[in-house]
Amino acid sequence: MIEGFALRTWLAGMVAVVTATIMFAYSRDVQLALIALVGGAAATVIARSIGDNDLAEPDAPGDGDQPLELAPVLEAILDPVVMVRDGRVIAANAPARLVLGQHIIGEDVRTAIRHPAASDYLSMPTNERGSAPIELVGLGAQDRRWQMRATETAPGTLIVHLLDQTGQHAAERMRVDFVANASHELRTPLSSILGYVETLSEEAGEDPAIRRRFLNIVFDEATRMERLVEDLMSLSRIEAEKFRLPSATVDLGVLAIEVHEALRHSHGTRGDDVVLRMDEGVLPVAGDRVQLSQVLHNLIGNAMKYGRDGTPVTVTVQAGARDAVMVRIEDESEGIAPEHIPRLTERFYRVDAGRSRSLGGTGLGLAIVKHIVERHRGRLDIASTLGQGTRVTVTLRAAER
Ligand code: ADP
Repeated sequence: MIEGFALRTWLAGMVAVVTATIMFAYSRDVQLALIALVGGAAATVIARSIGDNDLAEPDAPGDGDQPLELAPVLEAILDPVVMVRDGRVIAANAPARLVLGQHIIGEDVRTAIRHPAASDYLSMPTNERGSAPIELVGLGAQDRRWQMRATETAPGTLIVHLLDQTGQHAAERMRVDFVANASHELRTPLSSILGYVETLSEEAGEDPAIRRRFLNIVFDEATRMERLVEDLMSLSRIEAEKFRLPSATVDLGVLAIEVHEALRHSHGTRGDDVVLRMDEGVLPVAGDRVQLSQVLHNLIGNAMKYGRDGTPVTVTVQAGARDAVMVRIEDESEGIAPEHIPRLTERFYRVDAGRSRSLGGTGLGLAIVKHIVERHRGRLDIASTLGQGTRVTVTLRAAER
Protein backbone atom coordinates (compact mmCIF):
# COMPACT_ATOMS: atom_id res chain seq x y z
CA MET A 1 0.00 0.00 0.00
CA ILE A 2 1.26 3.51 -0.77
CA GLU A 3 0.72 6.00 2.01
CA GLY A 4 2.10 9.13 3.76
CA PHE A 5 5.41 10.37 2.50
CA ALA A 6 5.79 7.62 -0.11
CA LEU A 7 2.47 8.69 -1.59
CA ARG A 8 3.67 12.31 -1.85
CA THR A 9 6.91 11.19 -3.52
CA TRP A 10 4.96 9.05 -5.94
CA LEU A 11 2.54 11.91 -6.66
CA ALA A 12 5.45 14.37 -7.22
CA GLY A 13 7.04 11.91 -9.62
CA MET A 14 3.74 11.53 -11.48
CA VAL A 15 3.33 15.32 -11.64
CA ALA A 16 6.84 15.56 -13.18
CA VAL A 17 5.98 12.96 -15.81
CA VAL A 18 2.58 14.51 -16.58
CA THR A 19 4.12 18.03 -16.79
CA ALA A 20 6.78 16.77 -19.18
CA THR A 21 4.12 15.02 -21.30
CA ILE A 22 1.91 18.13 -21.44
CA MET A 23 4.94 20.29 -22.31
CA PHE A 24 5.86 17.94 -25.14
CA ALA A 25 2.25 17.72 -26.41
CA TYR A 26 1.94 21.51 -26.29
CA SER A 27 5.35 22.52 -27.70
CA ARG A 28 6.59 19.34 -29.52
CA ASP A 29 9.95 20.26 -28.00
CA VAL A 30 11.68 17.14 -26.64
CA GLN A 31 14.37 19.23 -24.93
CA LEU A 32 11.79 21.27 -23.00
CA ALA A 33 9.95 18.09 -21.98
CA LEU A 34 13.21 16.52 -20.76
CA ILE A 35 14.06 19.64 -18.77
CA ALA A 36 10.61 19.50 -17.14
CA LEU A 37 11.11 15.81 -16.34
CA VAL A 38 14.56 16.35 -14.87
CA GLY A 39 13.34 19.40 -12.96
CA GLY A 40 10.40 17.48 -11.56
CA ALA A 41 12.61 14.54 -10.62
CA ALA A 42 15.03 16.92 -8.93
CA ALA A 43 12.22 18.60 -6.99
CA THR A 44 10.99 15.16 -5.88
CA VAL A 45 14.43 14.13 -4.66
CA ILE A 46 14.90 17.44 -2.82
CA ALA A 47 11.42 17.19 -1.29
CA ARG A 48 12.22 13.69 -0.21
CA SER A 49 15.57 14.57 1.30
CA ILE A 50 13.99 17.52 3.17
CA GLY A 51 11.20 15.21 4.23
CA ASP A 52 13.66 12.59 5.49
CA ASN A 53 15.47 15.19 7.56
CA ASP A 54 12.72 17.54 8.64
CA LEU A 55 9.37 15.89 8.55
CA ALA A 56 10.25 12.74 10.42
CA GLU A 57 7.70 10.78 8.48
CA PRO A 58 9.62 7.76 7.28
CA ASP A 59 8.12 5.32 4.86
CA ALA A 60 6.99 2.09 6.36
CA PRO A 61 9.89 -0.31 5.97
CA GLY A 62 9.45 -2.81 3.22
CA ASP A 63 6.56 -1.03 1.56
CA GLY A 64 8.33 -1.64 -1.80
CA ASP A 65 8.09 2.02 -2.88
CA GLN A 66 11.17 3.27 -4.84
CA PRO A 67 12.15 6.96 -4.70
CA LEU A 68 12.55 8.60 -8.11
CA GLU A 69 16.36 8.55 -8.47
CA LEU A 70 17.83 11.70 -10.08
CA ALA A 71 21.16 10.29 -11.27
CA PRO A 72 19.77 7.69 -13.73
CA VAL A 73 17.36 10.32 -15.12
CA LEU A 74 20.26 12.75 -15.71
CA GLU A 75 22.43 10.01 -17.21
CA ALA A 76 19.66 9.02 -19.62
CA ILE A 77 19.92 12.45 -21.28
CA LEU A 78 22.44 12.59 -24.11
CA ASP A 79 23.01 16.37 -23.93
CA PRO A 80 25.03 17.91 -21.09
CA VAL A 81 22.79 18.68 -18.09
CA VAL A 82 23.95 20.23 -14.83
CA MET A 83 21.93 20.68 -11.65
CA VAL A 84 22.76 23.73 -9.54
CA ARG A 85 21.65 24.62 -6.02
CA ASP A 86 22.48 27.97 -4.45
CA GLY A 87 25.08 28.64 -7.13
CA ARG A 88 26.93 25.30 -6.76
CA VAL A 89 26.87 22.30 -9.04
CA ILE A 90 25.24 19.42 -7.17
CA ALA A 91 24.87 16.97 -10.08
CA ALA A 92 26.08 16.64 -13.67
CA ASN A 93 25.57 13.86 -16.20
CA ALA A 94 28.46 12.21 -18.11
CA PRO A 95 28.15 14.44 -21.25
CA ALA A 96 28.33 17.54 -18.99
CA ARG A 97 31.41 16.22 -17.18
CA LEU A 98 33.02 15.46 -20.53
CA VAL A 99 32.56 19.05 -21.76
CA LEU A 100 33.06 20.94 -18.48
CA GLY A 101 35.49 18.67 -16.62
CA GLN A 102 35.21 15.64 -14.36
CA HIS A 103 35.56 17.65 -11.13
CA ILE A 104 32.73 20.15 -11.45
CA ILE A 105 30.51 18.69 -8.71
CA GLY A 106 30.64 21.11 -5.76
CA GLU A 107 32.15 23.93 -7.82
CA ASP A 108 30.63 27.37 -8.21
CA VAL A 109 28.60 27.12 -11.43
CA ARG A 110 30.43 30.16 -12.89
CA THR A 111 33.73 28.32 -12.46
CA ALA A 112 32.29 25.05 -13.79
CA ILE A 113 30.78 26.70 -16.90
CA ARG A 114 33.73 28.98 -17.54
CA HIS A 115 32.27 31.41 -20.05
CA PRO A 116 31.51 35.15 -19.53
CA ALA A 117 28.08 35.02 -21.23
CA ALA A 118 27.12 31.93 -19.20
CA SER A 119 28.20 33.63 -15.92
CA ASP A 120 26.10 36.71 -16.70
CA TYR A 121 23.12 34.58 -17.67
CA LEU A 122 23.28 32.34 -14.60
CA SER A 123 23.73 35.31 -12.25
CA MET A 124 20.49 36.94 -13.42
CA PRO A 125 17.34 36.71 -11.29
CA THR A 126 14.95 34.13 -12.75
CA ASN A 127 12.29 36.67 -13.75
CA GLU A 128 14.90 38.61 -15.77
CA ARG A 129 16.42 35.51 -17.35
CA GLY A 130 13.07 34.24 -18.66
CA SER A 131 12.91 31.00 -20.60
CA ALA A 132 14.84 32.09 -23.71
CA PRO A 133 18.14 30.25 -24.24
CA ILE A 134 21.46 31.96 -24.96
CA GLU A 135 24.18 31.05 -27.48
CA LEU A 136 27.68 30.19 -26.24
CA VAL A 137 30.71 29.99 -28.53
CA GLY A 138 33.97 28.32 -27.50
CA LEU A 139 32.84 26.27 -24.52
CA GLY A 140 34.78 22.99 -24.31
CA ALA A 141 36.65 23.73 -27.56
CA GLN A 142 37.23 26.90 -29.53
CA ASP A 143 34.91 26.09 -32.43
CA ARG A 144 32.06 24.55 -30.46
CA ARG A 145 28.72 26.30 -30.28
CA TRP A 146 26.04 25.66 -27.68
CA GLN A 147 22.59 26.77 -26.79
CA MET A 148 22.22 27.05 -23.01
CA ARG A 149 18.95 27.16 -21.11
CA ALA A 150 18.48 27.39 -17.33
CA THR A 151 15.19 26.45 -15.71
CA GLU A 152 14.43 27.11 -12.05
CA THR A 153 12.72 24.05 -10.59
CA ALA A 154 12.62 25.19 -6.94
CA PRO A 155 13.84 28.38 -5.25
CA GLY A 156 17.63 28.39 -5.67
CA THR A 157 17.67 25.22 -7.80
CA LEU A 158 18.47 25.35 -11.51
CA ILE A 159 18.65 22.77 -14.24
CA VAL A 160 21.17 23.98 -16.81
CA HIS A 161 20.89 22.30 -20.17
CA LEU A 162 23.41 22.60 -23.03
CA LEU A 163 22.46 21.77 -26.60
CA ASP A 164 25.30 21.24 -29.10
CA GLN A 165 24.74 23.49 -32.13
CA THR A 166 28.17 22.98 -33.73
CA GLY A 167 26.97 20.67 -36.54
CA GLN A 168 23.91 22.79 -37.30
CA HIS A 169 26.02 25.93 -37.43
CA ALA A 170 28.57 24.28 -39.78
CA ALA A 171 25.72 23.11 -42.05
CA GLU A 172 24.25 26.61 -42.12
CA ARG A 173 27.67 28.12 -42.93
CA MET A 174 28.14 25.58 -45.74
CA ARG A 175 24.73 26.54 -47.16
CA VAL A 176 25.59 30.25 -47.05
CA ASP A 177 29.03 29.61 -48.62
CA PHE A 178 27.43 27.48 -51.31
CA VAL A 179 24.96 30.20 -52.32
CA ALA A 180 27.78 32.79 -52.36
CA ASN A 181 30.05 30.51 -54.46
CA ALA A 182 27.31 29.57 -56.90
CA SER A 183 26.37 33.23 -57.39
CA HIS A 184 30.01 34.15 -57.96
CA GLU A 185 30.51 31.29 -60.45
CA LEU A 186 27.43 32.39 -62.40
CA ARG A 187 28.23 36.09 -62.27
CA THR A 188 31.70 35.70 -63.82
CA PRO A 189 30.55 34.36 -67.23
CA LEU A 190 27.47 36.59 -67.12
CA SER A 191 29.61 39.75 -66.70
CA SER A 192 31.79 38.58 -69.56
CA ILE A 193 28.76 38.00 -71.82
CA LEU A 194 27.31 41.42 -71.00
CA GLY A 195 30.67 43.09 -71.69
CA TYR A 196 31.10 41.45 -75.11
CA VAL A 197 27.47 42.04 -76.14
CA GLU A 198 27.88 45.72 -75.27
CA THR A 199 31.09 45.95 -77.33
CA LEU A 200 29.43 44.13 -80.23
CA SER A 201 26.61 46.68 -80.26
CA GLU A 202 29.19 49.45 -80.73
CA GLU A 203 31.55 50.09 -83.62
CA ALA A 204 33.72 47.01 -82.99
CA GLY A 205 30.72 44.85 -83.90
CA GLU A 206 30.85 46.05 -87.46
CA ASP A 207 34.17 44.30 -88.15
CA PRO A 208 33.26 40.72 -89.22
CA ALA A 209 36.45 39.15 -87.76
CA ILE A 210 36.01 40.82 -84.37
CA ARG A 211 32.29 40.03 -84.39
CA ARG A 212 32.99 36.32 -85.03
CA ARG A 213 35.65 36.17 -82.31
CA PHE A 214 33.46 37.94 -79.73
CA LEU A 215 30.42 35.82 -80.60
CA ASN A 216 32.53 32.69 -80.04
CA ILE A 217 33.52 33.98 -76.61
CA VAL A 218 29.89 34.79 -75.77
CA PHE A 219 28.90 31.27 -76.87
CA ASP A 220 31.63 29.65 -74.71
CA GLU A 221 30.69 31.70 -71.65
CA ALA A 222 26.97 30.93 -72.12
CA THR A 223 27.86 27.23 -72.46
CA ARG A 224 29.83 27.46 -69.21
CA MET A 225 26.79 28.95 -67.49
CA GLU A 226 24.59 26.21 -68.91
CA ARG A 227 26.97 23.49 -67.60
CA LEU A 228 26.99 25.12 -64.19
CA VAL A 229 23.20 25.39 -64.03
CA GLU A 230 22.88 21.74 -65.13
CA ASP A 231 25.32 20.62 -62.42
CA LEU A 232 23.52 22.69 -59.78
CA MET A 233 20.20 21.17 -60.81
CA SER A 234 21.73 17.67 -60.72
CA LEU A 235 23.02 18.26 -57.21
CA SER A 236 19.66 19.44 -55.91
CA ARG A 237 17.85 16.51 -57.61
CA ILE A 238 20.29 14.00 -56.08
CA GLU A 239 19.96 15.61 -52.65
CA ALA A 240 16.17 15.51 -52.85
CA GLU A 241 16.33 11.75 -53.46
CA LYS A 242 19.11 10.91 -51.08
CA PHE A 243 17.01 8.74 -48.74
CA ARG A 244 15.40 6.72 -51.55
CA LEU A 245 17.55 3.68 -52.27
CA PRO A 246 17.66 3.11 -56.05
CA SER A 247 16.31 -0.29 -57.07
CA ALA A 248 16.89 -0.70 -60.83
CA THR A 249 19.42 -3.25 -62.07
CA VAL A 250 22.38 -1.71 -63.87
CA ASP A 251 25.20 -3.47 -65.74
CA LEU A 252 28.24 -1.26 -65.10
CA GLY A 253 30.22 -2.87 -67.95
CA VAL A 254 27.55 -1.92 -70.52
CA LEU A 255 27.25 1.54 -68.95
CA ALA A 256 31.03 2.11 -69.16
CA ILE A 257 30.97 1.30 -72.91
CA GLU A 258 28.10 3.77 -73.46
CA VAL A 259 29.80 6.55 -71.49
CA HIS A 260 33.07 5.96 -73.34
CA GLU A 261 31.24 6.31 -76.68
CA ALA A 262 29.63 9.58 -75.56
CA LEU A 263 32.96 10.99 -74.33
CA ARG A 264 34.71 9.93 -77.53
CA HIS A 265 32.38 12.29 -79.38
CA SER A 266 32.73 15.20 -76.98
CA HIS A 267 36.45 14.92 -76.11
CA GLY A 268 38.07 14.42 -79.53
CA THR A 269 41.13 12.22 -79.82
CA ARG A 270 41.58 11.91 -76.04
CA GLY A 271 38.70 9.42 -76.20
CA ASP A 272 41.05 6.99 -78.00
CA ASP A 273 43.25 6.83 -74.86
CA VAL A 274 40.48 5.18 -72.79
CA VAL A 275 41.12 1.49 -72.16
CA LEU A 276 38.15 -0.56 -70.88
CA ARG A 277 38.88 -3.67 -68.81
CA MET A 278 35.84 -5.74 -67.94
CA ASP A 279 36.12 -8.84 -65.80
CA GLU A 280 33.94 -11.81 -66.76
CA GLY A 281 30.81 -12.54 -64.77
CA VAL A 282 30.62 -9.25 -62.85
CA LEU A 283 27.14 -8.97 -61.33
CA PRO A 284 24.85 -6.06 -62.15
CA VAL A 285 24.44 -3.50 -59.36
CA ALA A 286 21.33 -2.09 -57.70
CA GLY A 287 21.25 1.50 -58.87
CA ASP A 288 19.88 4.46 -60.77
CA ARG A 289 21.07 4.17 -64.38
CA VAL A 290 21.11 7.90 -65.16
CA GLN A 291 22.98 8.75 -61.95
CA LEU A 292 25.56 5.97 -62.34
CA SER A 293 26.12 7.10 -65.92
CA GLN A 294 26.81 10.58 -64.51
CA VAL A 295 29.35 9.10 -62.04
CA LEU A 296 31.27 7.38 -64.85
CA HIS A 297 30.96 10.42 -67.09
CA ASN A 298 32.43 12.75 -64.42
CA LEU A 299 35.23 10.40 -63.33
CA ILE A 300 36.34 9.29 -66.82
CA GLY A 301 35.94 12.92 -67.97
CA ASN A 302 38.25 14.12 -65.15
CA ALA A 303 40.86 11.46 -65.95
CA MET A 304 40.79 12.57 -69.59
CA LYS A 305 40.96 16.28 -68.64
CA TYR A 306 43.65 16.14 -65.97
CA GLY A 307 45.63 13.16 -67.32
CA ARG A 308 48.56 13.84 -69.66
CA ASP A 309 47.61 13.85 -73.33
CA GLY A 310 48.39 10.57 -75.04
CA THR A 311 48.62 8.57 -71.76
CA PRO A 312 46.05 5.83 -71.06
CA VAL A 313 42.92 6.29 -68.96
CA THR A 314 42.13 2.81 -67.69
CA VAL A 315 38.58 1.92 -66.64
CA THR A 316 38.28 -1.44 -64.85
CA VAL A 317 35.00 -3.08 -63.85
CA GLN A 318 35.54 -6.01 -61.51
CA ALA A 319 33.94 -8.06 -58.74
CA GLY A 320 34.83 -7.00 -55.20
CA ALA A 321 34.53 -8.83 -51.90
CA ARG A 322 31.12 -10.01 -50.68
CA ASP A 323 28.98 -9.33 -53.76
CA ALA A 324 30.44 -5.85 -54.28
CA VAL A 325 31.21 -4.45 -57.71
CA MET A 326 34.12 -2.07 -58.22
CA VAL A 327 34.80 0.48 -60.95
CA ARG A 328 38.32 1.89 -61.00
CA ILE A 329 39.43 4.83 -63.14
CA GLU A 330 43.20 5.42 -63.39
CA ASP A 331 45.09 8.15 -65.18
CA GLU A 332 48.68 9.26 -65.61
CA SER A 333 49.23 12.87 -64.63
CA GLU A 334 51.09 15.08 -62.19
CA GLY A 335 48.69 13.76 -59.49
CA ILE A 336 47.09 15.55 -56.56
CA ALA A 337 48.92 16.60 -53.36
CA PRO A 338 47.66 14.69 -50.28
CA GLU A 339 46.34 17.82 -48.49
CA HIS A 340 43.80 18.41 -51.29
CA ILE A 341 42.39 14.90 -51.43
CA PRO A 342 39.93 15.08 -48.47
CA ARG A 343 38.45 18.32 -49.86
CA LEU A 344 38.02 17.35 -53.53
CA THR A 345 34.37 16.32 -53.05
CA GLU A 346 33.41 19.71 -51.56
CA ARG A 347 31.33 21.88 -53.86
CA PHE A 348 33.48 24.23 -55.94
CA TYR A 349 36.75 22.98 -54.43
CA ARG A 350 39.48 22.90 -57.09
CA VAL A 351 43.22 22.32 -56.83
CA ASP A 352 43.84 24.83 -59.61
CA ALA A 353 40.74 26.94 -60.33
CA GLY A 354 42.18 28.53 -63.49
CA ARG A 355 43.08 25.16 -64.98
CA SER A 356 39.70 23.66 -64.08
CA ARG A 357 37.83 26.57 -65.72
CA SER A 358 39.97 26.51 -68.85
CA LEU A 359 39.16 22.80 -69.20
CA GLY A 360 35.42 23.48 -68.85
CA GLY A 361 35.19 22.35 -65.20
CA THR A 362 32.45 23.57 -62.88
CA GLY A 363 34.06 22.39 -59.63
CA LEU A 364 30.96 20.30 -58.92
CA GLY A 365 31.81 17.02 -60.68
CA LEU A 366 33.22 15.15 -57.67
CA ALA A 367 30.59 16.60 -55.30
CA ILE A 368 27.94 15.10 -57.60
CA VAL A 369 29.82 11.77 -57.67
CA LYS A 370 30.03 11.71 -53.87
CA HIS A 371 26.30 12.38 -53.42
CA ILE A 372 25.31 9.73 -55.96
CA VAL A 373 27.61 7.12 -54.39
CA GLU A 374 26.21 7.98 -50.93
CA ARG A 375 22.66 7.58 -52.20
CA HIS A 376 23.66 4.11 -53.46
CA ARG A 377 25.20 3.32 -50.01
CA GLY A 378 28.45 2.78 -51.89
CA ARG A 379 32.02 3.93 -51.32
CA LEU A 380 34.26 6.43 -53.07
CA ASP A 381 38.05 6.25 -52.70
CA ILE A 382 40.48 8.74 -54.26
CA ALA A 383 44.19 7.93 -54.23
CA SER A 384 46.89 9.88 -56.01
CA THR A 385 50.67 9.84 -56.30
CA LEU A 386 52.43 13.07 -57.22
CA GLY A 387 54.20 12.77 -60.53
CA GLN A 388 52.40 9.53 -61.39
CA GLY A 389 48.64 9.84 -61.49
CA THR A 390 45.28 9.38 -59.82
CA ARG A 391 43.09 6.37 -59.13
CA VAL A 392 39.42 6.73 -58.21
CA THR A 393 37.48 3.64 -57.07
CA VAL A 394 33.72 3.36 -56.67
CA THR A 395 32.38 0.30 -54.85
CA LEU A 396 28.69 -0.57 -55.14
CA ARG A 397 26.41 -3.39 -53.97
CA ALA A 398 25.47 -6.07 -56.47
CA ALA A 399 21.73 -6.30 -57.17
CA GLU A 400 19.96 -9.10 -55.30
CA ARG A 401 19.59 -12.21 -57.40
P1 ADP B 1 36.12 20.24 -61.98
O1 ADP B 1 34.90 20.61 -62.69
O2 ADP B 1 36.95 21.39 -61.58
O3 ADP B 1 36.92 19.17 -62.69
P2 ADP B 1 35.60 18.25 -59.95
O4 ADP B 1 34.68 18.37 -58.79
O5 ADP B 1 35.32 17.17 -60.93
O6 ADP B 1 35.60 19.67 -60.58
O7 ADP B 1 37.05 18.07 -59.39
C1 ADP B 1 37.52 18.94 -58.39
C2 ADP B 1 39.01 19.17 -58.56
O8 ADP B 1 39.71 17.95 -58.31
C3 ADP B 1 39.42 19.56 -59.95
O9 ADP B 1 39.30 20.95 -60.15
C4 ADP B 1 40.87 19.10 -59.99
O10 ADP B 1 41.68 20.07 -59.40
C5 ADP B 1 40.87 17.86 -59.12
N1 ADP B 1 40.77 16.60 -59.88
C6 ADP B 1 39.68 15.85 -60.08
N2 ADP B 1 39.98 14.73 -60.77
C7 ADP B 1 41.31 14.76 -61.00
C8 ADP B 1 42.24 13.89 -61.65
N3 ADP B 1 41.85 12.75 -62.22
N4 ADP B 1 43.55 14.25 -61.66
C9 ADP B 1 43.96 15.40 -61.08
N5 ADP B 1 43.13 16.27 -60.44
C10 ADP B 1 41.83 15.96 -60.40
